[in-house]
Amino acid sequence: MLTNNLGYPRIGSKRELKKACEQYWSGNSSIQSLVQTGRDIRKHNWELQKAAGIDLIPSNDFSYYDQVLDLSLTVGAIPKRYHEVILNKGNSELDLYFAMARGYQKDGLDITAMEMTKWFDTNYHYIVPEFTKDQQFKLFSTKILDEYNEAKRLGINTKPVIIGPVSYLLLGKEKESGFERVDLVKNLLPVYLEILRKLEEQHVEWVQFDEPFLALDLTGKDKAAYAYVYAEIKKQFPKLKILLATYFGALKENTALAASLPVQAIHIDLVRSPEQLETVLADLPDQMKLSLGLVDGRNIWKNDFKASLSLIETALDRVKENRLIIGSSCSLIHSPCDLELENNDKVLTPEIKQWLSFARQKLDEIVSLKQIAANYPSAAAKLKENEAAHQSRKTSALIHKAFVKERLAAISVKDDQRGNPFALRQKLQQEALGLPLFPTTTIGSFPQTSEVRSWRARYKKGELSLAEYDALIEKETEETIRFQEEAGIDVLVHGEFERNDMVEYFGEQLAGFTFTKNGWVQSYGSRCVKPPVIYGDVYRPEPMTVRWSAYAQSLSKKWVKGMLTGPVTILQWSFVRNDQPRSETCTQIAFAIRDEVNDLEKAGIKIIQIDEPAIREGLPLRKSDWQEYLQWAVKAFRISASGVKDDTQIHTHMCYSEFNDIIQHIADMDADVITIECSRSQMELLDAFADFKYPNEIGPGVYDIHSPRVPAKEEMVALLEKARSVIPAAQLWVNPDCGLKTRHWAETKKALTEMVAAAKVLRESV
Ligand code: GLN
Ligand code: ZN
Repeated sequence: MLTNNLGYPRIGSKRELKKACEQYWSGNSSIQSLVQTGRDIRKHNWELQKAAGIDLIPSNDFSYYDQVLDLSLTVGAIPKRYHEVILNKGNSELDLYFAMARGYQKDGLDITAMEMTKWFDTNYHYIVPEFTKDQQFKLFSTKILDEYNEAKRLGINTKPVIIGPVSYLLLGKEKESGFERVDLVKNLLPVYLEILRKLEEQHVEWVQFDEPFLALDLTGKDKAAYAYVYAEIKKQFPKLKILLATYFGALKENTALAASLPVQAIHIDLVRSPEQLETVLADLPDQMKLSLGLVDGRNIWKNDFKASLSLIETALDRVKENRLIIGSSCSLIHSPCDLELENNDKVLTPEIKQWLSFARQKLDEIVSLKQIAANYPSAAAKLKENEAAHQSRKTSALIHKAFVKERLAAISVKDDQRGNPFALRQKLQQEALGLPLFPTTTIGSFPQTSEVRSWRARYKKGELSLAEYDALIEKETEETIRFQEEAGIDVLVHGEFERNDMVEYFGEQLAGFTFTKNGWVQSYGSRCVKPPVIYGDVYRPEPMTVRWSAYAQSLSKKWVKGMLTGPVTILQWSFVRNDQPRSETCTQIAFAIRDEVNDLEKAGIKIIQIDEPAIREGLPLRKSDWQEYLQWAVKAFRISASGVKDDTQIHTHMCYSEFNDIIQHIADMDADVITIECSRSQMELLDAFADFKYPNEIGPGVYDIHSPRVPAKEEMVALLEKARSVIPAAQLWVNPDCGLKTRHWAETKKALTEMVAAAKVLRESV
């Protein structure tokens, strides 16, 4: 049995790459020093994997920004607008690469960056390739060869990793009409063949082709492209060992297609879909090797050796040992680097730590699994230790809270129902709240200035007492309330100055969450996130936001909106426990948020917003799985929102408005008011709501908060007129696209003043 790793985190265990890139971008370090950092990280990673006993060690999994962008550069898919950047201004290949990733504003040029989007259902974002009709490709960057040779010089024979041609095309976007990008496969394949020829000259043994789209819904054309590509490769390189890697889901109806491809081995994700093992084994041709993705690349839990071994045994029943490969489920770039760096018992307690495994520990797990399966005498102790850790997780009082489980078991049909339907609630709310037509509001946060952030940092360091810190936040809150009153905004917010992050803030106060010191995961480019860890049953020991909302409300006669993050968003942006279904964890969070909503109401808060910007990104990759997800996700939101009286107004917010395919479910959430992003699409995205005859109230964002630009009143009036032409006036709210925390005060004040003036124009016109 060989051991296999699909990819290793490249940010460096202390985020060395992030720092080196940002230094270089700001002009504070040389390209040589950046390149040296890259080389150091690669060396470190390769040697680590070799020492751990991994046989198939990846190369070309390193990236200065993104692996999809690497490939675009490799195959010369460089959009025309960057041609001026190429080499003629003393730019290196890396400068061109960063220009594509981040845009280029220098030497009188102003070139926009390429688009970025989510990598399947992860929180990693990739740079979307741009394709044009009849596009030609050529080998432009030799990164994959260089890194293979670099490892070889260190005495390590690696397995170069490349995104397969079909997945690469499907990841991209057509920039003009009249063609389908998968048609470009004929033009693209020769570059792959050239790369393989060069690798073969260097005596490469294995090459990993990532084809995650094989685990998604495919068209007939896509399938034909797969058959074509791998047959051509086989024709030209009969001896080369291709490992075809699939992950993030089951092959399902594509199993026969995958098994028919003439490759040496296929890799399947058995963490996401252990049930696919049987069907894949049934279709596996006689000579093909099977790589079992057993160690979760996307989460932080210790592998359950017993469960993994039972899968290995199932495979061994059908397939000889030498045809099996033991591996990570996907690339480890989605997990943090090294658990050993978590050495602060106060941040992460030893009890919880024993249940965890980060990338470095996952390598050991892969090797241990092989050793246990192959009956190495030394491995028995590892199995024992692993069983003990899992036993402690099953029974730990830290994780399991009977009263939380009882509450979920006792869930009743009423728990996700408001008292009355929206039409009646709307009347009651109108009477209770007395708001004008086209009420104005904001999405929650006001500028998080460096001053505000410095107070938090000083408080955490112990340089400010809690009383001093609170006093500063109170002052900032009061000034923000005063500004909103002066500006004439109808529904005020407290500004969220006490929050570092909309998920972390709640995670810190909810039971069942913990945090890490160094658990960084790449989000995009040099951006890393440190998601909270949900390890146990979730509940809310004490009110979380009531103090701040009540304080803000005490300052004003106008309504101040309470501000919470919703259960689905908290779930999506955390590492989630794997010992119960996600839906159950989400429901637990929903009840915790419900308690907070109810307490806010008790404290006199009549309008409460529950943000759910991540509802859409939680959608499963396969359409056939959508209904199940949407059912529990919508229900979780409803549970959190349904404990209040009919005349309490529930808002929700989402940072986008592409809802065509899930508009029914958005309506089922039954928030009294939803605020969405609309300004950049000139209200066109509102059409989904109009066509559906969305019954509740809507605040389509009238200005883009991602830019410092201050829109004029007339612009917003025009957008609102457009909105009014498709949505009845009595349903419309006036607000920005999203929270203002990244903006400066000066532009915020101007823009909101213009926004209020725009609402007045509309009111006068009815
Ligand atoms: N209430 C949050 C804010 O204004 C919402 C942020 C979000 O939707 N991403 O910052
Ligand atoms: Zn938003």
